[in-house]
Amino acid sequence: MKWLKNLENIAKNHKSGLCPICGSKETDFGYSIIDPKSRMGYGAVWCNSCRHAFHISRVEVKDEKHIKEIPHNLIY
Ligand SMILES: [Zn+2]
Repeated sequence: MKWLKNLENIAKNHKSGLCPICGSKETDFGYSIIDPKSRMGYGAVWCNSCRHAFHISRVEVKDEKHIKEIPHNLIY
C-alpha cells in the first residue's frame, strides 16, 4: 500500500508527508463527518500536485481542525 507511510505520519505528527506517487511535498489530508452523533466519517490523504489520493474509510473524527472539504477531482 503506497500511502501507508503517510497514514503513519498523520497518526504520529499530523503531517501527510511526501507524495508516494510523484514525491511532491504538496500533500494534504482531511476528514468529513457523516454521522455527527458517533463522529464517524471518512477521510482522505491526497497530493495537490498529481491529484493521487488514498481513501480512509470509517474513521472516528476526533480532531475538529482536520475536518475539511475533500477535493472532488482526486484519483483513487
Ligand atoms: Zn503526487
